[in-house]
Amino acid sequence: MPDCLFCSIISGKIPAKKVYEDEHTFAFEDISPKAPTHVLIIPKKHIVGLKEAAVEEAEIIGRCHLAAAEIARQRGIENGYRTVLNVGPRAGQSVFHLHVHLLGGRDLTWPPG
Ligand code: AMP
Ligand code: ZN
Repeated sequence: MPDCLFCSIISGKIPAKKVYEDEHTFAFEDISPKAPTHVLIIPKKHIVGLKEAAVEEAEIIGRCHLAAAEIARQRGIENGYRTVLNVGPRAGQSVFHLHVHLLGGRDLTWPPG
């Protein structure tokens, strides 16, 4: 997707602080962190969001979550972290390339705002 911010980060056209990469997923530091750890994990394949995802994309969405768990393990924040997908504008989705937020490193309140 030529005009997609996160596709441009994957291709290196737009710089980002890379945290993790494998065949299917890419992870980088959120530019405006809301917790000491705030990493975005994205599929390399352009998927608009969770509600647009097809059943064939179930595995790659699962892989994004497993990558989040691995990053949390590496950072020693396994006593409490959260994975979040904001779905649609009313939930605050502002980038329309599916992304899992990994938030941790501080106490997280429930429910989120
Ligand atoms: P959402 O609001 O759920 O769509 O999340 C989009 C996230 O992308 C926000 O947390 C932004 O801070 C983050 N973001 C926007 N632009 C960049 C960028 N160039 N590099 C890293 N993170 C970004
Ligand atoms: Zn994209």
